[in-house]
Amino acid sequence: MMRLLVTGGCGFIGSNFIHYALREHDDWEVVNLDRLTYAGNPANLSDIEGDERYRFVRGDIADRDLVDGLFRDGLDAVVNFAAETHVDRSILDPSPFIDTNVRGTQVLLEAARNHDVGRFVHISTDEVYGSVTEGRFTEDSPLRPNSPYAASKAAADLLCRAYHISYGVPVMVTRSSNNYGPYQFPEKLIPLMIRNALAGMDLPVYGEGAQVRDWLYVEDNCRAIGVVLMKGRPGEIYNIGGGSERRNIEVVEMICRVLGERLNRDPEDFKRLIKHIRDPRGAAHDFRYALECSKMRGLGWMPQVTFEDGLARTVDWYLANQDWVEGVITGEYLEYCRRVYGDG
Ligand code: NAD
Repeated sequence: MMRLLVTGGCGFIGSNFIHYALREHDDWEVVNLDRLTYAGNPANLSDIEGDERYRFVRGDIADRDLVDGLFRDGLDAVVNFAAETHVDRSILDPSPFIDTNVRGTQVLLEAARNHDVGRFVHISTDEVYGSVTEGRFTEDSPLRPNSPYAASKAAADLLCRAYHISYGVPVMVTRSSNNYGPYQFPEKLIPLMIRNALAGMDLPVYGEGAQVRDWLYVEDNCRAIGVVLMKGRPGEIYNIGGGSERRNIEVVEMICRVLGERLNRDPEDFKRLIKHIRDPRGAAHDFRYALECSKMRGLGWMPQVTFEDGLARTVDWYLANQDWVEGVITGEYLEYCRRVYGDG
């Protein structure tokens, strides 16, 4: 058996990864450490409650005693998803991003160092590279983070590097592009647009919506993380891109088209809801991210889900799981929306 600590497993990618891990690997056991912030939802994993290969621990990755205790119980590997993840929130208040993304990662690395853990995958983001106008970022591109979120992730990546070089901790870093798919909290672009369109509410698009993102279906990312966990080389960084660059406005219009097809409605009914609003990110809003992913291809990984197919699957999942969406939306989230988007 491989005993795996997954942190942040009640969030979007973490919960998809735990489903993937238990489904694809009969010989893996998962301990999920999650603080259950506004973004964490145990219901994402309700179907595996009672599975003897799964255990949930509620707690903070920055809590040294708690983390030390989990490592003392014996762990073979760690995958660190836990993070504050929303760029706009980091612009409103960077402090929680430093506490979790930087200090929390250091606590985990220190425990891995003290307990000689076999493998450690740290989940990072393409946002650490900043914005690119032409070409693609390689794993050796300079780090030029523009938002407090991206800076906190870059700081954690550098700690991973230092813990590998100084102490030999076998840490690998993955930097993926924008994920989408089931269980994504509805403050992120795709689920936000689906929910608002269904409710007949404005579809808020920052500026002209000209920013370009490379979209990665979450299952493709989970497979990639599994590959890095098993075959990656300690000390290495791996870019994981979906190879699907789209402007934000194109994504929103595609969602309107798919919703129109699924609900037998005129897509124009949804497109009319698009509202261009002032960009709260200002200069911190990166124009384009794009990744060179030949290192991952060298490990035998390629994305398998096209953007058209992944988006259709995602819309179908949100249509079938509207109770889940309403269940994760708290008063705190609605208050946050009012601060960012106004009362409309
Ligand atoms: P998410 O916001 O959906 O989930 C984060 C999870 O971490 C939540 O369950 C939350 O409760 C938990 N958490 C937060 N602070 C914690 C703490 N101090 N201790 C324990 N648990 C804590 O995030 P996500 O979108 O699933 O992202 C997961 C990871 O992937 C993050 O590290 C993020 O930076 C990275 N990433 C995300 C994307 C994306 O498109 N979503 C892209 C690239 C990289």
